[in-house]
Amino acid sequence: MSKNYRGKLGRLARAEFLRRAFAGRRRAPCAICGAPLHVDEATVDHVLASALGGSNAFANLQLACARCASRKSALEAGICNRRSKGHRVEVDPAKLVAILRRDVARSA
Ligand SMILES: [Zn+2]
Repeated sequence: MSKNYRGKLGRLARAEFLRRAFAGRRRAPCAICGAPLHVDEATVDHVLASALGGSNAFANLQLACARCASRKSALEAGICNRRSKGHRVEVDPAKLVAILRRDVARSA
């Protein structure tokens, strides 16, 4: 891949990821809450945020609804913030998703 391997996902890579994720179907589930999303509602989310070292490889991308994506980035921003203050914060994307799912279940 190019020098954009980390950082912001390019428009073309995003479109290609969506094309594959929706191949042959009208809706695909949010990877976090499971809500069925139309392509226009789907956010392409980094499983491990690029700010935390995640790459733009398709294996590190997932679909998320706007609500889950914004909650997840708030959690990730909190982690970045604690790290910038010198705390050692371990990042496990699966744990982040578990926290978000609990949140979603609580607010349902
Ligand atoms: Zn969701």
